[in-house]
Amino acid sequence: MAFFIRSHRWLGGIVPYEIKLSGFPDGGTMVQDAINHWTSNTILKFRPRAGEHDYVRIVADSSIKQGGNSPVGRRGGGQWVKISPFNDDKWPTVHELGHAIGMHHERQRPDRNDFVIVTKPKDKDNVLLPDGIPVGPFDSDSTMSPTTGDDKFSYKPGFGNSTLHGLSPGDVKGVAYVYHGSLGRKVHEYHWTKGWTTAFHYVVNGKDFMFFLKVGNPHDKYSGAVDIHEVNLDGGVGAKVIHYDWTFGWTTGFYYEVNGKPFMFFLKSLEGAVDIHHVNPDGTVGEPVTPRYEGWFGWTTAFHYVVNDKHFMFFLKAGDGAVDIRHVNSDGTVGALVKHYDWSPGWTTAFHYAVNGKHYMFFLKVGNPVVDFFKQTGGVVHIHEIKSDGTVGDKIEEHMWRSGWTTGLFYQVAGNPYMFFVRARYPFPFFRYDHNIAVTQVLGDGKIGPDLERYDWSDGWTTAFHYEVNSKHYILFLMRDSGLVRIYRVGVDP
Ligand SMILES: [Zn+2]
Repeated sequence: MAFFIRSHRWLGGIVPYEIKLSGFPDGGTMVQDAINHWTSNTILKFRPRAGEHDYVRIVADSSIKQGGNSPVGRRGGGQWVKISPFNDDKWPTVHELGHAIGMHHERQRPDRNDFVIVTKPKDKDNVLLPDGIPVGPFDSDSTMSPTTGDDKFSYKPGFGNSTLHGLSPGDVKGVAYVYHGSLGRKVHEYHWTKGWTTAFHYVVNGKDFMFFLKVGNPHDKYSGAVDIHEVNLDGGVGAKVIHYDWTFGWTTGFYYEVNGKPFMFFLKSLEGAVDIHHVNPDGTVGEPVTPRYEGWFGWTTAFHYVVNDKHFMFFLKAGDGAVDIRHVNSDGTVGALVKHYDWSPGWTTAFHYAVNGKHYMFFLKVGNPVVDFFKQTGGVVHIHEIKSDGTVGDKIEEHMWRSGWTTGLFYQVAGNPYMFFVRARYPFPFFRYDHNIAVTQVLGDGKIGPDLERYDWSDGWTTAFHYEVNSKHYILFLMRDSGLVRIYRVGVDP
């Protein structure tokens, strides 16, 4: 499909440009046609620069006999796209703009030797790029792949005979996949009080709300706190709907619906208490559905999921690896045990997701940073299928990751699946993780694909969730120890 550089996206999919028209024998018509080819076929928009800091400067360069050259992806500031004035048509410019938006040559993919015979492997257009991000299968029809080969490489039989010169269907899909799931601009920032530990988004009666919880302070029984806010149409945190003073120790909370009725689940791990509440039509926390469940000690992770219209809850203890899967009754209460598992201890993050109608669970061990420091390993990821009866099925994938990943979430934009990961603060002074934010591909079979983006942000982000408001996608990031909140757009601007 396509081959991209990691990160270096144009924010919101908008590429500001300037063209120096003098120097092109046709006054720049061909270049303009190439830009129009991108804008009319992809979700990206090339717009004449209106003062933006980052932009492409398209110029004719008569020292280039054919084609042109461009850096790959957004590099910061003005970046040259140099085009030969001797080109016969717009296709070489379409190719160079492909570099500018972040695409590498298909024949520099790690799997290229299955499709091409490279005659000059040291040529700069042929060297393998192990850090590049393959998206989908190799595409010999891509605008980033000459259709008939050249003197530096040739196609193996069955590839590269297309008559296409511009964007292939694979290019269009690949660009959509990468840019729909990518982080765009930071759109909101708030400085709140410290201590918010749990947060989620929910919708009641068509209205969007956000729930924020402080676990509180173990020396003060009544130091837990809850704020519920409206969500503004621009994705920002809106007016506060209500504040509750709760007791210390509520660590886990989530929203779910059964038969169209809204509920909230809360777990206090240390005391082994579970409360389930109705949610009122105004978004506030309603009456308890049932008396408090007691004796649920040690559960650290819990979530709700639906398979074949049946509702389940998943419970996990990081301490000893115990897992319970339970039915959820039609009145929202926790029902009978479906299955118990005794796994290895240390699983810290788990969630359910579905791709192409099939259900999966993601499991992560945060790992030990000391082991990680010496051995560059420690985090473990397993992906399992979920069976039609809601229980955990075969493991389909296993990864050894570096340690420290604490927050994982699954999201979909325009039907395309992604995962997002946040790494905690390194627990020792003077050391940091090399990057702490990542967006990964999720493949059609539920497996995790290569990272699309990695960021080296300031560390300490403890909570993140994805939400959609007014058909736009956002991710909210929260830093417990400072109260800093940032909201980023995901995907392309309208
Ligand atoms: Zn090129």
